[in-house]
Amino acid sequence: MSLQRTVSILGATGSIGASTAAVIEEVTARGDGEITVEALTGGGNITALVDLVRRLKPRFVAISDPDRLADLRDALAGLPTQAGAGPAAITEAAARPAGWVMSAITGAAALDPTRAAIERGATVALANKECLVCAGPLLLAAAAKTGARLLPVDSEHNAIFQVLDRPERMEKLTLTASGGPFRQWSAERMAAATPDQACAHPNWSMGRKISVDSATLMNKGLELIEAAFLFGTPESKIDVLVHPQSVIHSLVAYCDGSVLAQMAAPDMRIPIAHALAWPDRAAITTARLDLAAIGSLTFEAPDLIRFPALRLAREALQTGGFAPAALNAANETAVEEFLAGRIGFLDIAAVVEEVLQHWDAGGHGAIANSPSSFDEVLAVDAVARRLALAAAARRRAA
Ligand code: NAD
Ligand code: MG
Repeated sequence: MSLQRTVSILGATGSIGASTAAVIEEVTARGDGEITVEALTGGGNITALVDLVRRLKPRFVAISDPDRLADLRDALAGLPTQAGAGPAAITEAAARPAGWVMSAITGAAALDPTRAAIERGATVALANKECLVCAGPLLLAAAAKTGARLLPVDSEHNAIFQVLDRPERMEKLTLTASGGPFRQWSAERMAAATPDQACAHPNWSMGRKISVDSATLMNKGLELIEAAFLFGTPESKIDVLVHPQSVIHSLVAYCDGSVLAQMAAPDMRIPIAHALAWPDRAAITTARLDLAAIGSLTFEAPDLIRFPALRLAREALQTGGFAPAALNAANETAVEEFLAGRIGFLDIAAVVEEVLQHWDAGGHGAIANSPSSFDEVLAVDAVARRLALAAAARRRAA
């Protein structure tokens, strides 16, 4: 096999970015492909970014902090890589001519760069889910216009993509969820949970924001919305099933009673390699699944009382319009407040619920209206963040 790709990695210094770099290096080292790296982006970690520059030799790198361009240039001294800084430079990285782009920036900050890659018709490997949650229909319309292809990297959606060969015969999608670190915790215990406890995921090693989302189950809620948009599936046909071993990554039920599942060890290099090589497959040395060693796979229904975030996401999807964007922005703010130690773990979902409940009454426009532009989505995102900060401050004072 010889894989020919020019790639860019948005969010290269993160957890998905590291796994993407590892897959690229392994494919190249095996002589299975020629992969040229066009651009890499990072947040503020210049040392980690420059280490990646030495390994992957991109033509361009960008960091999100606009005030650190001089530091980045100093760190790149002697290397031929061009540098940029600030949100526009991140978007410029996405706009540069790479046929394959990994979208792995955390949060709605990925929206503008992901859109730039889609608008020039690239193949976009989508790890970031927040951009689809806030602007799914607009991004899909842009992709339809340019012929850009979206390849799901989120493990559940990648699993569905691998087994959804006859979408018109599909009866139900089931997203599996590990249940997170607090699956068996009481609400009283969760109320006192610390950021480090929330980030100690039993099966996956991930960035802190998605780790907290996995603990509240908001991650599964965001994934429910992601699946509805990506696969054009109504909310009523998407189930969530808790499966603590994280071996089955999702399931598709068909009209004849057959259920197809994708299984693999919980390692994000597997869906990343799938998206990189698609429609072929690439050989990589991930842990192989040893079902005899695992022994048994178990399943249970999610508890919507202890994990209200999943209910809130389902309601936002039912409401439609701006509701998913408002849910996502309120959640990002609430998670930041929790990680900074300013609100408790159970306050995260409470803040999100408060923002959504008071939206229409607050004179912010009807939340069920459909966004007609990315600017409208960004305006709703900004209002939701402001309302969430105010709600968090009230909870702190109470
Ligand atoms: P992470 O925190 O480890 O990395 C995030 C990356 O984005 C870093 O490079 C960071 O510097 C950059 N970044 C953060 N804020 C930015 C901003 N405002 N502008 C530009 N760059 C910014 O996160 P992660 O775990 O790698 O997750 C990345 C995305 O992939 C998230 O949307 C997450 O939901 C999704 N995802 C992650 C996993 C996983 O296993 N880690 C699985 C499925 C989906
Ligand atoms: Mg996932």
